[in-house]
Amino acid sequence: MRYAGIIQGRFIERINRFIARVEVGSGPGTHREEVHVKNTGRCSELFLPGAEVFLCPQGGTGRRTAYDLVAVRKGEMLVNVDSQAPNAVVREWLEAGGLVSAPFVRPEATYGNSRFDFYVEAGERRILLEVKGVTLERQHIALFPDAPSERALKHVQELIRARREGYECFVLFVIQMKGASCFTPNRYAQPMLAEALSQAEQAGVRILAYDCQVDADGLRLDKPVPVMLDVEKQALSHIAVPLLSWYDRCRRRLPWREQPTPYRVWISEIMLQQTRVEAVKPYFERFMDRLPDVEALAKAPEDELLKLWEGLGYYSRARNLQSAARQIMEEYQGQMPSEYGELLRLKGIGSYTAGAIASIAFHRAVPAVDGNVLRVISRLLEDGEDIMNPSVRNGLEKALSGVMPKDRPGDFNQALMELGAMVCLPNGRPKCDQCPWEMICQANLHGTQEEFPRRSKKKARTIEEKTILVLQDAQRAAIRKRPSGGLLAGMYEFPSLEGHASREEVLAWLKAHGLHAVRIRELPASRHIFTHKEWHMTGYSVLVDELEPMRADRTLLFVRPQETEEKYPIPSAFAVYAGYLHIRTGKERM
Ligand code: SF4
Repeated sequence: MRYAGIIQGRFIERINRFIARVEVGSGPGTHREEVHVKNTGRCSELFLPGAEVFLCPQGGTGRRTAYDLVAVRKGEMLVNVDSQAPNAVVREWLEAGGLVSAPFVRPEATYGNSRFDFYVEAGERRILLEVKGVTLERQHIALFPDAPSERALKHVQELIRARREGYECFVLFVIQMKGASCFTPNRYAQPMLAEALSQAEQAGVRILAYDCQVDADGLRLDKPVPVMLDVEKQALSHIAVPLLSWYDRCRRRLPWREQPTPYRVWISEIMLQQTRVEAVKPYFERFMDRLPDVEALAKAPEDELLKLWEGLGYYSRARNLQSAARQIMEEYQGQMPSEYGELLRLKGIGSYTAGAIASIAFHRAVPAVDGNVLRVISRLLEDGEDIMNPSVRNGLEKALSGVMPKDRPGDFNQALMELGAMVCLPNGRPKCDQCPWEMICQANLHGTQEEFPRRSKKKARTIEEKTILVLQDAQRAAIRKRPSGGLLAGMYEFPSLEGHASREEVLAWLKAHGLHAVRIRELPASRHIFTHKEWHMTGYSVLVDELEPMRADRTLLFVRPQETEEKYPIPSAFAVYAGYLHIRTGKERM
């Protein structure tokens, strides 16, 4: 269908359901015009002050307004809002054989207490068809209605009855725009209509949606759009388009995203495990400066590597990185392998990291499922399975493989992670009003966000009590290297006693080691939490006349404090006690 004499304007305000005020003309000819709104729906997301609108002259309707408002620009989209247009384009489509060939088409057919938009006959076939115009769209998901519609509900119920009496029945949603990736009933506005449509479909009523080619001066029914009635089962199939569109608009600029080489993606993903993005940024830059490629990482002295990692915690990650770098040098001539299966063979790379590297750096269509992704999807689907169960992760990896777009697998994975980090937050209420899945998320629909994800209780952490001794003479302090395996392996620490020792017990220990305390001072208690254990520490600062008597203990080093900061990585678990020697540990030095 086409409009004649279309002019352009700027929306100012809606005065009532039928009348809006619009600015038209240009230069000295600019004036305000009251126009007829050819849509009684709210269209609140469309009729925004300043929006570009298109007006069609009214021909002999006898109304006091000279124009009808027929289309509005919403971002890149042009949305037709003429509520008579869907019937007009469907009629053209029916008569052109869009539904059945050689049809007899009669508009405004009465059946029972309802009047349907079309009755169509073709041979033996008797068809009732009801048309609904759709102007509401969120994140590329088209929705109907934008406000409860008793009439629509009644039509659907009548169509079920007609179907039982032998008619072929259709509801055709005409999406009056281009760009919708799917159509779904608006469960927020009218949950009963969503249920009625599902019942209708089960009764054999066909539910169709088509989008439209919209121009300022015309509208044409165009392509079928997938219909999502069973949101529980179908939501996953429709997450990609809204998600990627949100990601394109809202993603953070992060150093590793700007140049996603395999090495940079790998290092960033390992650093980001258990660590916040903001905390990782300075570490990442410094690491890249000092160890810019696989070869440099493979050759780095362990102490330098741990120093670069100092403050990030979970030091086995750094050591695993180096083992994997050596493996890459030996087996892959220094080039990171691109296949998921090969990446999995590298030390410290699990299914999530392999998926992230393969998809982001090598564009392989493999998912990357971490705790964030499990949380987001469990809310989307109100999935009550225990996310700690590996079979749940495996199942989700499989399901996501089937729905991730093959042309943007890396962006899809990053968008999921970003949604978990920025919107679908773990603690407190997620920001559902900013979420691209707001209209299809089960947890949001039912207000159950805080009940998901479900997870089995973690084992309680074990608690270890320690007494830390900051032992020094006039020039040096005593530190020792931790064993090369286990917790904080290869890092440096202060000598310590098991349990919380009293001043007398510390003095007795010093005496037993041949040391003479010049001054002893109690330091504040401190706690450090690891994944499976907690250290509850007390401490003493002890000045001795000389440390020499302890030389016999070969595990100890006697170092100048400033030397420690440069050379000996001390984990931030000891930050409180290192502070007494003015040694800054990892995070404090950033
Ligand atoms: S709508 Fe809310 S709960 Fe659902 S995925 Fe989005 S942020 Fe999470």
